[in-house]
Amino acid sequence: MTYDDNNIFAKILRGEIPCDKVYEDDHVLAFRDIQPQTKVHVLVIPKGAYVSFADFSAQASEAEITGFFRAAGKIAKDLGIEGDGYRVLANTGVHGHQEVPHFHLHLFGGQPLGRMIKPPQG
Ligand code: AMP
Repeated sequence: MTYDDNNIFAKILRGEIPCDKVYEDDHVLAFRDIQPQTKVHVLVIPKGAYVSFADFSAQASEAEITGFFRAAGKIAKDLGIEGDGYRVLANTGVHGHQEVPHFHLHLFGGQPLGRMIKPPQG
């Protein structure tokens, strides 16, 4: 899948639209989800142009992958959700219901989260 330079996270990375930033370094930007589903709901994105988890895991450099996952863990810790626990989620592709085609992790926390996913209907 070709990367769409006009996706909303690309615009956030270029500073064309604002975000509620919680962390930034050379490889990573993290900001609060605009429609939070839990008390703490933060999105962690690589600065590189990767469409999905599949794209990132296959194509990103070792430095990008290491930097990304180290940052994600640090962000969760700094948000104060590590102690009680949290959930990391990467929606991928059509079945994963990925809406924004720039790879991102969701960090959910700040409250009990229930079962892993809602069982699909039918
Ligand atoms: P996904 O289904 O994993 O692609 O989820 C995309 C997420 O991006 C959703 O939870 C949206 O609420 C969130 N989102 C969309 N636009 C923005 C924005 N401008 N700032 C912050 N979060 C956003």
